[in-house]
Amino acid sequence: MEKYGHFIAGARVAGASNRAADVFNPSTGEVKAQVALASREDMDQAVAAAAAAQAEWATVNPQRRARVMFKFKSLVEADADNLARLLSEEHGKVIADSHGDLQRGLEVIEFACGIPHLLKGEYTEGAGPGIDVYSMRQPLGVVAGITPFNFPAMIPMWMFGPAIACGNAFILKPSEKDPGVPLRLAELMMEAGAPEGILNVVNGDKEAVDAILEHPLIRAVSFVGSSDIAQYVYATGTANGKRVQAMGGAKNHGIVLPDADFDQAVKDIVGAAFGSAGERCMALPVTVAVGDGTAEQLLERLLPEIENLRVGISTDEQAHYGPVVTAAHRQRILDYIDLGVSEGAELVVDGREFSLQGYENGFYVGPTLFDRVTADMKTYQDEIFGPVMQIMRSDSMEEAITLPSSHQYGNGVAIFTRNGKAAREFAQKVNVGMVGINVPIPVPVAYHTFGGWKRSAFGDANQHGTEGVRFFTKIKTITQRWPEGDVADQSFVIPTMQ
Ligand code: NAD
Repeated sequence: MEKYGHFIAGARVAGASNRAADVFNPSTGEVKAQVALASREDMDQAVAAAAAAQAEWATVNPQRRARVMFKFKSLVEADADNLARLLSEEHGKVIADSHGDLQRGLEVIEFACGIPHLLKGEYTEGAGPGIDVYSMRQPLGVVAGITPFNFPAMIPMWMFGPAIACGNAFILKPSEKDPGVPLRLAELMMEAGAPEGILNVVNGDKEAVDAILEHPLIRAVSFVGSSDIAQYVYATGTANGKRVQAMGGAKNHGIVLPDADFDQAVKDIVGAAFGSAGERCMALPVTVAVGDGTAEQLLERLLPEIENLRVGISTDEQAHYGPVVTAAHRQRILDYIDLGVSEGAELVVDGREFSLQGYENGFYVGPTLFDRVTADMKTYQDEIFGPVMQIMRSDSMEEAITLPSSHQYGNGVAIFTRNGKAAREFAQKVNVGMVGINVPIPVPVAYHTFGGWKRSAFGDANQHGTEGVRFFTKIKTITQRWPEGDVADQSFVIPTMQ
């Protein structure tokens, strides 16, 4: 059986710890590999390798660093089929979604190719008599990223692309559930010309995370995962003097007004609720139907779409979605469906008994639909992170806005309408970080920034875009005055013994 270690100083290493975890193929339920869980000693080794490489990397001119990003992008593209297969095998998402995972990550790498432009400082001539002021952006040094299981290619690239292009060395602690692709990405980064030690992958669990949060040489930590862990990482990292951005969980609402294009909205909503088995932080698990008859119209169109969803193994090209990531996560989703029933929501489509013939041990959950969900229900307040859609009803748009606005999470939200005024007002008023107008999954493009509000993000710097560059650099401001007259006469000329 394959054993994943770490990637430190340009090579795969087994690591010093004797702790390991199973990596599953969720489609079959079988253990496909084991992954080492790092000790502090492993982390120290990775940080030492990163620190040794970073000082020189910071002096490589920005254009040359960008060339490494160009080359990395073309290497990932050339290997995309293998990477997508590996990703699907460990995560369970279908191959098309794995290609999407890689593609959205590569868009941030493309953005990183243009970072030299964003590293330029500012200049004020004549800020005082003979005085000029200028600023420069310098890398932080060694920085780290801790990533979730659900986008094992895209989210690491969100972080290490900008960080490395800015002149930092990077330690990636990916999810222990699907470590295969992150390890391959680090190998490809070396092949692209990054010096050894500039991108290291240390696999592990809480022990590795704590080693990052407490390591004195790690200057900044970027985290994406669930909210309780995000809050812990933010609190601990900042208490230790680090810059921290920590993205958390989500519960995104789709608001449907009576004038929406129902056919389009239903297709969008079904794709966004059930795609990737609902395991996306920008999934759309809640639909709020506004006005009389909207819920009925939606249900009439939703039911055939949901019944047509095909659940299959991750390599089934006809499947709309595959298994969820682990048996434990499957059980957690089933428990939430049980809870929804006991809380009094109306279970319209029940995915609990779903089983895939020939793959009975895989971690599958059938599409599930609840109607008449209300704001007091725990199944509404919590993130379920599975193929479970919840319909709510609202009398007015004003009332509908209060649902996402007062929810503990504020990652994404979407409105479906033909009314420009209503959409504009909604976008201005809603208390959520990313808004879609007739766009179900409003993940901003790479040169904008990604980040939610409330318990969906701790810290105030978003991922990628200009905020990513700011996060991974520090600004230095120089105020200068040059002496006037003959330089040879000046007192700062180096004194000699004569
Ligand atoms: P998770 O919080 O379980 O794990 C995230 C990372 O934290 C992993 O690397 C994991 O090893 C580590 N970790 C787990 N338990 C820890 C602990 N007790 N102490 C320290 N570190 C720990 O999240 P997940 O299940 O891998 O991913 C799904 C979650 O991520 C969902 O909540 C989803 O909404 C969220 N997510 C958010 C975004 C976003 O940008 N807001 C994007 C993707 C996923």
